[in-house]
Amino acid sequence: MHATPGNVFMVVAPSGAGKSSLVKALLAQDPSILLSISCTTRAPRPGEQDGREYRFVSAEEFRVMRDAQNLLEWAEVHGNFYGTPRDRIDEATSQGRDVLLEIDWQGARQVKQRFPRAIGIFVLPPSIEELESRLKARGQDEPQVIARRLMAAGGEIAHAPECEYVIINQEFSVALSELTQIVSAARLRFSSQAARHAQLFAQLGIPAEH
Ligand code: 5GP
Repeated sequence: MHATPGNVFMVVAPSGAGKSSLVKALLAQDPSILLSISCTTRAPRPGEQDGREYRFVSAEEFRVMRDAQNLLEWAEVHGNFYGTPRDRIDEATSQGRDVLLEIDWQGARQVKQRFPRAIGIFVLPPSIEELESRLKARGQDEPQVIARRLMAAGGEIAHAPECEYVIINQEFSVALSELTQIVSAARLRFSSQAARHAQLFAQLGIPAEH
């Protein structure tokens, strides 16, 4: 059992499900959650800033980080490499802070191996038609990139059963409220509460989780 109350949340979704907007709104409400900034070899989209959405790195820089075991997990997604730097996650969890990772299903699987209590949250679009129109409306990608992402969406969605929770992002405010409730529920798990309120639990003679 982990002695720290920090949770690891993984938000997984196909592109266009609205995952990033949901995560952004959650973090604006609750800045105590640390957002992991991934490294990627993909080119920045208009408006993206190095160190904010991603750390944009060359294929060579990525390979060096990966080979030096500096990535908690990594995967190839839509022809680019993505990975989670290990240092911030280890530091945050050892301090008992909640961390949130926006990653694909391959990464989520690897994180589960390292942190079995990590919580997977899958965000679904309300329909395939809606997913397509959201990808087009974003207007940031070339048509062939959009087509590739739509095809990949099916592959990503097939892994939804590996997550503990599912949010259907039809109404943004409802989806955000559901995400907030999942975070709250995780913080109330026995192991989190026992670590956060160790003195009270000892005083009340509550045995450790088995
Ligand atoms: P995008 O290029 O649209 O920002 O992200 C494409 C996909 O890569 C999304 O499914 C996103 O969740 C995933 N992704 C972003 N960062 C990481 C990461 O660090 N690791 C893994 N495995 N996937 C990531």
